[in-house]
Amino acid sequence: MVPFVDIHTHRREVLPGVVSVYSLRMGVESCRGLTGPFWAGVHPWDCSSVDRETLDRLAEIGAAGIGEIGLDRVRGRLDGQYPWFEAQLSVAVRRGLPVALHVVRASEEAIAAVRASNIDADRVMVHGFAGGAGLLRRYLDQGYLVSAGWRALASDKSREALAAVPSDRLLLETDGVGDIMEVYEAVARVRGCATEELKANVYDTYTRFLRL
Ligand SMILES: [Zn+2]
Repeated sequence: MVPFVDIHTHRREVLPGVVSVYSLRMGVESCRGLTGPFWAGVHPWDCSSVDRETLDRLAEIGAAGIGEIGLDRVRGRLDGQYPWFEAQLSVAVRRGLPVALHVVRASEEAIAAVRASNIDADRVMVHGFAGGAGLLRRYLDQGYLVSAGWRALASDKSREALAAVPSDRLLLETDGVGDIMEVYEAVARVRGCATEELKANVYDTYTRFLRL
């Protein structure tokens, strides 16, 4: 049976029938006891409190991808977040790893930094997508994947955008809140497809994206 995939969670739990990809906040928590694939990255919220060695550890830690990394205009200062974002994008490029982006009100700045890093666009996922058709189009035009969860389901405008994401570019997540199966059911309703079909598509996209 094809499992559900929660591509971005902050809960360390093993659920039957679910692949959960933990998102480790480097410099804030330890990777000890983690099983299965996980993201690791210096979160934009943590940039001012982590030290330089964290970057060396990030390259060595054995993560399936680098994330969540990015820019957040609402929490913290972009000028402090930039150097970490850029440095971690280069780790991903050097290691041939995908990235999970956390971007809040800084999409153009993030797109520019991603482009400058020369990472392949199909190795880039925007986590926690929320926004309208215009923002979605900007990300899709770059070649990125989009991960959606409760935030994308919370407004009409976002739900409309969610319905328009091509099946092979969509991943789903809880971000550590609620039940991933309920996310699938709600997203299937929005997209007018069967949950089983969505499951098959997301699993396919997941294995391709992480090159499993
Ligand atoms: Zn998160």
